[in-house]
Formats: sequence, structure tokens, C-alpha cells
Amino acid sequence: MFDFEYTSQPTRVIFGVGRSASVAEEVRALGATKALIICTAEQTTQAEDVSGLLGDLSAGVFAEAKMHVPIETARRACEHAHAVSADCVVAIGGGSTIGLGKAIALESCLSIIAIPTTYAGSEMTPIYGLTENGLKRTGRDLRVLPRTVIYDPTLSRSLPPRLSFVSGINAIAHAAEGLYARDGNPVMSLMAEEGIRAMAAGLRRIKDEPDDIRARADCLYGTWLCGTVLGQVGMALHHKLCHTLGGTFNLPHAETHAIILPHALAYNKEAAPDAMLRISRALGGEEAHTAIFELERELDIPSGLRELGMVEADLDKACDIALSNPYWNPRPIERDALRSLLQDAWVGNRPSLY
Ligand code: NAD
Repeated sequence: MFDFEYTSQPTRVIFGVGRSASVAEEVRALGATKALIICTAEQTTQAEDVSGLLGDLSAGVFAEAKMHVPIETARRACEHAHAVSADCVVAIGGGSTIGLGKAIALESCLSIIAIPTTYAGSEMTPIYGLTENGLKRTGRDLRVLPRTVIYDPTLSRSLPPRLSFVSGINAIAHAAEGLYARDGNPVMSLMAEEGIRAMAAGLRRIKDEPDDIRARADCLYGTWLCGTVLGQVGMALHHKLCHTLGGTFNLPHAETHAIILPHALAYNKEAAPDAMLRISRALGGEEAHTAIFELERELDIPSGLRELGMVEADLDKACDIALSNPYWNPRPIERDALRSLLQDAWVGNRPSLY
């Protein structure tokens, strides 16, 4: 029998090739008159193009977004937004830039228009992160949820294939864990399965033809669905483990997600059969964990944490940290099984049934 709760989120989503051209209309629709455009230093040109589209509505470009949203950057951005009298923020970029937009919204309550150019999915969630003294603290707050999201596949064409692949698997991880979430619901399951299907299809086509706009559209469509799932339901072992590895050992976010995912799915296989069925159906493989492992080999994604620079001596510490902070997972977290999982993920072995 179904037994669930579901609350929809109020973000307006605009999707289509060339739709970022309507950014001025969207700023006006929010009742705003001065939009600060934020980006990383690498995406200044794309941000300046947006500034050109905004004309008199532009309050200029702030190009200091960085990975993990350092609190100093967030403070500088808030001061800058205030100094230029911005009454809304346009964030163009990946999770790092959208994360900075969220930090500004948290502090100043300015509305965010997000124009995502990666597949991380942060734009669809009320989750924020801020790093202070080397520690990343995360939280949920509806004030940080973008009011408007413009998905324009043209803008992600410049994302190099290697980054596209790990970013896309990061999105698949949100949907995969959403399928066995304790607070899951049938709408999220539909979105998750379709998100995984669309993303995998798009990534495979990007491998053959990185410029293929239909492939980029498939990936952004998958991003929207998978990001929505992340924003609505709780995550489990996979996300907690990636958070520990990223935070403690400074491993790159999307690559770490890609390496851990097949192993986390193998760990949860028996405890979440329905989720595994949906994932394997979406990927076109026999078993969820092997299907994702094979997809990653097809895309030449690194298979072992050692390739990211993690040293073997840190595996015990990673295991201890992951066990020290208990969290919900469809299968209880057991030390020996978790340690074997970490060993396989470090070497880059095919996942076994832990
Ligand atoms: P990112 O935003 O750090 O971007 C990686 C690099 O790619 C940057 O240099 C960026 O400028 C560049 N880039 C982005 N789009 C490009 C494009 N189209 N062409 C060329 N270069 C481009 O990477 P990400 O994986 O999108 O985000 C990772 C961060 O997002 C992590 O800190 C993670 O914790 C956070 N995140 C948060 C949530 C959430 O819900 N709060 C969800 C997912 C990820």
C-alpha cells in the first residue's frame, strides 16, 4: 500500500535551446530592476553575455565563485550586491556558483535566477553549503531555493566531456538514492527513473559527439529531474560517504560521487530491490550496480579513489568517520562491509556484494 507525503516546490522552470535569451523578462517578472550576475572566473565571458542581455537591468558581474563556497567569498559577494544596489542575483554556472547565489540569498533574502551549465542539480534544491575554517556546514532553507531556473542546453556545450560525465553521474546518484529514500514517494520515483534514463542516454551521446545539442538537452532534462529528487527527499549511504571523503580528504566532488556510486548500490542491493529494478531498467543493464559500473567504464571515468590522490592508509579513518555519525540507510551500516566497500572503491575493483 502507498503511504507517503509530498510537497511540491515553487521554482519556475524554463527549458529549451536559446531560452537564456529571456533572462531580462524573468528578472522583470520577479519585480526586480538590478540583477547582479555571479560566476566563476572561468565563466566570465558567459556571465558578460548575460549582462549584455540584461542591459539596464544588469548590476554587473561578480566573478569570484569558488568550489565549496568559502565564507569570505560569500561575505564579499553580499557586500558587493549591497554596494551595487542589486535586488536579485543571476547565477550562471555549476554547483559552486549556484552555491554562492544561495549564500547571498541566505544572508540578504535576494531572489535567485539560476542558469545551470553543469549537471550537478543544485538549482533545484533548498540545500546550501558554506565553508568556514576548512569545515563545510550544510543546511536546508527555502529562502535559498532559486525562484527561476533557465535550462539552456546551448550553455553546457562548452562543458568538457570529462567534466560532463562525472557531473552527470553525480546527478544520477541523487536519483538513485532518492529511489530508496525513507521519505520517498511515487512522484519522486517517476522523476528519478526518467532522470537516470535521460542522463545516461545523453552522456553516451556526448561521448560520440560532445557538441550534439540533443545530447546536451537530454542531460539537462536529466539534471532537472535528478536535482528535483535531491531537493525533495533524504539521501543515504552514498551521499554521506561522499561528503566524508570530500570534506576530510579534499577529494573532488563529482569524481568521488562517480567512483562510490556502484559500490554504494551494491551495498544496498538486497535492502532496496524495487529501487535497483528501476535503476537497471533506466540504464538498460541487468543489475543496478554493474550497469552503473559499466556505464562509467564506457565513459572512461576514473574507477578508483587512488586515482584521485587518496592514500590507502586513510581508508580506516574514512571508515571510522563514516561510522561515527550514524544516519539512515535502507541497510544498517556495518563496519566490515563498509571497509571492504572502501577498499574496492579505492583500488577501482568491480563492486562485489558487501
Ligand atoms: P563547479 O560548479 O565547481 O564547476 C566546475 C568547473 O567547471 C568550474 O571551473 C566552472 O566554472 C566550470 N564550468 C561550469 N560550467 C561550464 C561550462 N558549461 N563550460 C565550461 N566550464 C564550465 O562543479 P559542479 O560539479 O557543478 O558543482 C560542485 C559543487 O556543487 C560542490 O561544491 C557540491 O557540493 C555542490 N552541489 C550542491 C548541491 C546542492 O543541492 N546544494 C547539489 C549538487 C552539488
